[in-house]
Amino acid sequence: MLTQIAISALSAAFVLPQLRYEQNALEPVISRETIEYHYGKHLQAYVNTLNTLVKDTDYGKMTLEDIVRTAPAGPVFNNAGQVLNHALYFEQFRPVAATGKSSVPQGRLAEAINAAFGSFDVFKEKMNTAAITLFGAGWAWLAQDEKGGLVIVQCPNAGNPVTSGLVPLLCFDVWEHAYYVDYRNRRADHVAALWQIIDWDVVASRMK
Ligand code: MN
Repeated sequence: MLTQIAISALSAAFVLPQLRYEQNALEPVISRETIEYHYGKHLQAYVNTLNTLVKDTDYGKMTLEDIVRTAPAGPVFNNAGQVLNHALYFEQFRPVAATGKSSVPQGRLAEAINAAFGSFDVFKEKMNTAAITLFGAGWAWLAQDEKGGLVIVQCPNAGNPVTSGLVPLLCFDVWEHAYYVDYRNRRADHVAALWQIIDWDVVASRMK
């Protein structure tokens, strides 16, 4: 789903992926103001910069994921990575009290989490720790390896697990722009609150 939205404009320009919810729908976990800036300004800026950088280059004919996999460290990688990361990020949320949505993973995803971490609670603790201890700006990821096993990885700056051959499933953005309006310096409180708005159906749909 994400892949089609974010990567649809192969020969034209990359586009801002549509939000699946209203800009205030994630309150009180993420405020409208944070969405307005994080989605409307930060992500839009990454999209605009990427389009400027890839115009009339071979990157302009590639999918976002292929750019992230192959671009060397530098502006193209950074902006493509941030567009891909944020497309995955904003797609994986749903309102706190969304009807018909489970607050915990189900089915194959739940089984994979239990197999890798022992329990959902242990997984949450390890994911929180990865997000909280990442020094500076970056992302904590739940990803799937080629054997189907799940791992937690920390990626600085614009990093994405696809560069390590992993499938990204769930991400926590710990750049300060993701939480400073709502939580100031309390990154741990922001990360702890995110569990209330994860759409586990979306996360599970990303599994290979
Ligand atoms: Mn961000």
